[in-house]
Amino acid sequence: MAETVDLHQLEEKYRGRWPAEFEADPSAKEKFYINVAFPYPSGAMHVGHGRTYTVPDIVARFWRMRGKQVLFPMGFHVTGTPVIGISKRIAKQDQKTIWLYRDLYGVPQETLDTFTDPMVIVRYFAGEYERIMRGLGLSIDWRRRFITVDPQYSKFIEWQYKHLHAQGHVVKGVHPVKFCPQCDNPVGDHDLLEGDKAEIIRFVLVMFRFGDAFIPTATLRPETVYGVTNLWVNPGVTYVRAEVDGKMWIVSREAAEKLKLQDHTVKIGEEIPGKDLVGKKASHPLSGEIPILPAPFVDPEMASGMVMSVPAHAPYDYIALRDLQEQGQYTGIRPKGLLRLPGAGEFPAKEAVEKVGIRDQKDAKLESVTQEIYAAEFARGRMRPEYGGKSVREARDEVTDRMLTEFGSAVMYDFDTQPVVCRCGGRVMVRILHDQWFLNYSDVGWKDEVRDQLGKMALVPAETRAEFGRTVDWLKDWACTRRVGLGTKLPWDPDWIVEPLSDSTIYMAYYTIAHHMKRLPPEKLTPEVFDYLLLGKGTPTTLSREVLEPIRKELLYWYPYDFRFSAKDLISNHLTFQIYHHRALLPPELQPKGMVVFGMGLLAGAKMSSSKGNVFLLEDAIAEFGADTVRMFLTGSAEPWQDFDWRNELVLSVKKQIERFSGTVRELAAAKGSSSGALDTWLESRLQGRIARTTKALELFQTRQALQECFYGIEADLRWYRRRKGEGAEPGPGARALASAWVRLLAPFVPYSCEALWEALGGKEPIAFAPWPEPDGGKVRRDAELSEDLLARTVEDIESIMKILPVTAKEVRILVAPEWKRSIFSTIAGSSERREVVKEIMKDPSMRKRGKEAADAVKQVTALVHKLPPDQVEGLIAYPVDEMAVFTSATDFLEREFQARVTVLSADEAAHPKAKLALPWKPAIVIE
Ligand SMILES: [Zn+2]
Repeated sequence: MAETVDLHQLEEKYRGRWPAEFEADPSAKEKFYINVAFPYPSGAMHVGHGRTYTVPDIVARFWRMRGKQVLFPMGFHVTGTPVIGISKRIAKQDQKTIWLYRDLYGVPQETLDTFTDPMVIVRYFAGEYERIMRGLGLSIDWRRRFITVDPQYSKFIEWQYKHLHAQGHVVKGVHPVKFCPQCDNPVGDHDLLEGDKAEIIRFVLVMFRFGDAFIPTATLRPETVYGVTNLWVNPGVTYVRAEVDGKMWIVSREAAEKLKLQDHTVKIGEEIPGKDLVGKKASHPLSGEIPILPAPFVDPEMASGMVMSVPAHAPYDYIALRDLQEQGQYTGIRPKGLLRLPGAGEFPAKEAVEKVGIRDQKDAKLESVTQEIYAAEFARGRMRPEYGGKSVREARDEVTDRMLTEFGSAVMYDFDTQPVVCRCGGRVMVRILHDQWFLNYSDVGWKDEVRDQLGKMALVPAETRAEFGRTVDWLKDWACTRRVGLGTKLPWDPDWIVEPLSDSTIYMAYYTIAHHMKRLPPEKLTPEVFDYLLLGKGTPTTLSREVLEPIRKELLYWYPYDFRFSAKDLISNHLTFQIYHHRALLPPELQPKGMVVFGMGLLAGAKMSSSKGNVFLLEDAIAEFGADTVRMFLTGSAEPWQDFDWRNELVLSVKKQIERFSGTVRELAAAKGSSSGALDTWLESRLQGRIARTTKALELFQTRQALQECFYGIEADLRWYRRRKGEGAEPGPGARALASAWVRLLAPFVPYSCEALWEALGGKEPIAFAPWPEPDGGKVRRDAELSEDLLARTVEDIESIMKILPVTAKEVRILVAPEWKRSIFSTIAGSSERREVVKEIMKDPSMRKRGKEAADAVKQVTALVHKLPPDQVEGLIAYPVDEMAVFTSATDFLEREFQARVTVLSADEAAHPKAKLALPWKPAIVIE
């Protein structure tokens, strides 16, 4: 029976009613506070966002039904420059941006025309996000919504930074940072279109003399200068002569631009085509005179755009040289070894390249071979005696020092991968900042605090613990201010604005009081007020105790949060930063308790990306399939921490499943059938297990596992129940009892459908607040379940035999294993030493008398015991099934199923040769 209620009408009905129901105030109940990383509302939400918010909603709804007072709030993160970049591009009529916003995100033209004001964009999308989140059925307390440029929130940030500054955690320093020259601003990973994984690397420039100029080659291994055989330039690239700090350098044009941002005075002069350098000579005191050779792999975007070649120890250099020599060029050049690596010969790069069978410069394996050699030489390599004989580790530092003090070298910073692109479309470079403010995340004591806190927290899934540990180990100081963008001014240095990741570290505490804050004038929210609210300290003068006391009480009721949810790409920044700030700013009793980290979304197998247009919009998904379908698909196709793949055809089948579920529940509720005894007992017993396992799974945030039990599992049980009862037979009381529990188990996943069904079942309160079903141990009947299992297995066996039978069956004979085989089964199954017990059985005179037949039975039973699931074996020992009774009482059912006469016999009494095959739990079957 198909559901007759239109899903969209049904959603409309509850959408208006729900928000008020989910406004949560402190109560006598135990609290459960969850929150999720708030979105940056600058574009439309896609189905990947849909899962990020649906998982915590399911968890919120589950615990609400289990009697907790649940808080699930939402705010919007608008700090920073992205929205400013968008408004500028729209003002400039940038066609790609206009396409994205008008055609992909569906912003009406008259609204788009107002997007030249960044605050309009922020307000528009915050409104849109809320509307879509409401549409998705999220049980959010919307009274607490705020945006990060609300003046009250800014006061909260000022309070945080006043303390962090006083504690010495915000310091001024000289640091290389990612910087967008076009925005004239440092950029965080959030501000990037491309290259968000890029790391800043420190290169040493080895200065080769070239006539009146120098060719600086960038290297991470200055000690290999002794093995240089040549330089590489790209003949297709045009280089420039540039006066750098008064000396003439030859570098790529890009490098000259980069050097300007790194404390050098740079005057760019005439151009030099790379091909004009080829064949000329350069020299360095530590490597002598060497030729300049052509190599297309030299990237003008990477550091200086010039490379020194050490073919004995660098696989790329070796291959590039070999390629040239195979064409008969530069055949006089030989690799020059400079260090010894235990276990390797004179030229480790040559050996490694030959061992792996690298074909040419384009071979993908070249990179991993390079990494291996570099790591091995650094860890175990020793310089040759003529180059000092020290370990590579020591020699690297020594040579670097000599280069910088004696040989005119400089340091140059660049990214390990290119390109790195800002959201404004401009190329991001490394800039050395002098007056920049940093959060000193590298502080050893602060790191220890974070490690201590992580040790006390629940982290889901458990594998993320190692990743958090690595992040804390490696985290460096963080540039926490910007010159431009939306946000809060640094209280003591108001030319700077606190950047996005740095103003969203303890906002989860703000949610607990956000609705009160809105009613207070921002100028009265002094640091003393927040000292009182969050730390319980001091006596504020701007607001009375009567005003502040209830607000503090509410904060203490909800805080700390129980679980924070977020996607896994935030482990390396936000999720770790927030622990730093909690420890620095809040007392021990307000420290966070747990985190759940999500996988990413794919669209038909490819990574979802808004900027590339590879997204399925959440709003379109809800309109096409209904909110319940979207929710169930997003949480049922993979566990939250696994990646999921959105495929329309699979989503459509989930929609049909929900419609089928609704129809079944209505049918069950209306059924008037009487009890069929054992079968209704069986159904109720199965249900208790489903409830227990669904509950357990949701306690562990396993949404997929929970749905396997409470949706697909219960559906399978009902299918068997109906089949056993026969067509047209009305479901009995066991099935009616199931309907009520089933709807409640599914309510967190498909709340709209379940709310409507709950009303139809006569539920008084909204289902969101109905009691979660509890498993009733008194209704668990293991014997009934085992008997039905036996029957179901046997039906499957008969079906598979019939499939290959050439004629229509007239009779099915079920030959049940005799008592002596049953005793073998229980002896073997009940023993922990199964090999020993076999000998014991065969010593028994009654078994010996049976000879080979008994020996065969022992073998077959042993195989069977190993094949069955252990808990089933255990059950069969505790509750031996009377197989004769099971099949005899099901004869009517079996005859109906197979349209044949069914007889049940003990195998001992049957003359058929197959009778010998009968085993406990696996009767022999004869079909004629
Ligand atoms: Zn930019």
